[in-house]
Amino acid sequence: MDIPPIPNQPKTFKFQERTFGQKNPVNRSFQPPWFANRTWLHYDETNELAYCHVCMVAHRDGKLSSSNLDKAFNINGFSNWKDASVSLKKHESSGCHHESVEKLVTLPEVTKDIGETLSNAHAEEKSDNRESLSKILSRLWFLGRQGLPIRGDGDENDRIYTQLLKLRGEDDSRVLEWLKQKNEKYTCAHVQNEMLQIMALSIPRDVAKDIRNCALFYHG
Ligand SMILES: [Zn+2]
Repeated sequence: MDIPPIPNQPKTFKFQERTFGQKNPVNRSFQPPWFANRTWLHYDETNELAYCHVCMVAHRDGKLSSSNLDKAFNINGFSNWKDASVSLKKHESSGCHHESVEKLVTLPEVTKDIGETLSNAHAEEKSDNRESLSKILSRLWFLGRQGLPIRGDGDENDRIYTQLLKLRGEDDSRVLEWLKQKNEKYTCAHVQNEMLQIMALSIPRDVAKDIRNCALFYHG
């Protein structure tokens, strides 16, 4: 049977009556109020049978354990209108229905969690990058203050700056991991010059700030 993309819930269809009981036979048909608060309930007008749309889809897609199958609602079709109120509630609390809802309906929430996990990982990476950059800046600051050459003529590994980073890396392995990365090390000459320039500018800025904060300033 082809399963429609959404459950069929006809309100004005003329539901066929069925006879229940032999001694005191009663006629009963499907009642549209049963659709209320049951988005899963599907009515097949051709065969006059009710199904659970979620469980049908889960079964068709092989997502339902065979031990959990509530066949009346996902394979055979349900038509016991006389005891329907009880049977519908029973299906709603069945293992079959719970498993189907969990695997089909709650999937978007899982996807949201994956998104959250990714953004957490991104935030963590950002904080690691910031921390490593601040360490690299402090080493550069140290060399600048001591008037030591930062680059020199040798290859990258011989430079005081690289040696200093490696030495400090013995205390903090994260700096060594940072140096092993091929890109975005913030250790190339161009970035070093930019950092030194920012530091140089920060000195008169700090002095100016101190002067502004002083009640009195003697110009000598
Ligand atoms: Zn179900």
